[in-house]
Amino acid sequence: MLDGGATGKNLKENNSQNAAPKNALPLVSRKKQESTIVWVKNVAIGGSEAVVMAGPCSVESREQVVSTALSIKQSGAVVLRGGAYKPRTSPYDFQGLGVEGLRLLREAGDIADLPVITEVMSEEDVEIICDYADMLQIGARNMQNFALLRKLARTRKPVLLKRGASATVKEWLSAAEYLLHGGNEAVVLCERGIKTFDNSLRNTLDLASVALVKEMTHLPVIVDPSHATGKRSLISATAKAAIAVGADGVIVEVHPNPEIALSDSAQQLTFQGFAGLMENLRVPLRSILVNREQAVLA
Ligand code: PEP
Ligand code: MN
Repeated sequence: MLDGGATGKNLKENNSQNAAPKNALPLVSRKKQESTIVWVKNVAIGGSEAVVMAGPCSVESREQVVSTALSIKQSGAVVLRGGAYKPRTSPYDFQGLGVEGLRLLREAGDIADLPVITEVMSEEDVEIICDYADMLQIGARNMQNFALLRKLARTRKPVLLKRGASATVKEWLSAAEYLLHGGNEAVVLCERGIKTFDNSLRNTLDLASVALVKEMTHLPVIVDPSHATGKRSLISATAKAAIAVGADGVIVEVHPNPEIALSDSAQQLTFQGFAGLMENLRVPLRSILVNREQAVLA
């Protein structure tokens, strides 16, 4: 036997320590506690009010991000989004402004008095992004980047964990479990569409999973109709559906001139489009009931 080697007895003990517990997701499970509210500065996610986060896909210029911040704030958004490090399918596409993008996003957030969220793609950028952002986004492509999850778990900044495009609900929740296990309980889940056989849209928005995940975990869940559909004209309908199914909010892309956006041009809303979306989200979902009451009275 090697020095310090395991005896039959302690091998067995080690194995039982490593064996998956009965509830493989003890920390994210709804059984552990009532619904969690995640605070991003003074914004409560998972409370009684659904939240709307909005902003450009990519931060492109000061004028672009400041005008967007002021406009979405006026329409009722409570968090400003904007990518500085962009996960692009092609290396020839716009990759984001990096640190300059972070600086501009922070400045725009401060001017409009909105907390800011941005994506972290790499472990090496975590410190600098933490200096500028109020909430960190793990993108769909990095949902199972376990080293990144572990590192963000140690930051204690609130994290928005997007569902991987091909991830099962179990894999998505297991990724969230990494964050909680590493010490970060401020986790918000985000359904952003998955890959299916159907390519009519950019992705397939899995709204049933939103309802399922609300049942399974105590964490807040929001929906990203922009990346789920890839199509501007569908954002309003799918955002409404998301709230109706129980989502704690939505995150949508908005650009002063989507036609010339450097990324995700087809799915970004204009300022006017976003104002319209906010109006639509305020339409009371009671209308069916009201109509029924009217029918009974008639
Ligand atoms: C984004 O939010 O800009 C983004 C790239 O999202 P996803 O990771 O969902 O594709
Ligand atoms: Mn985008």
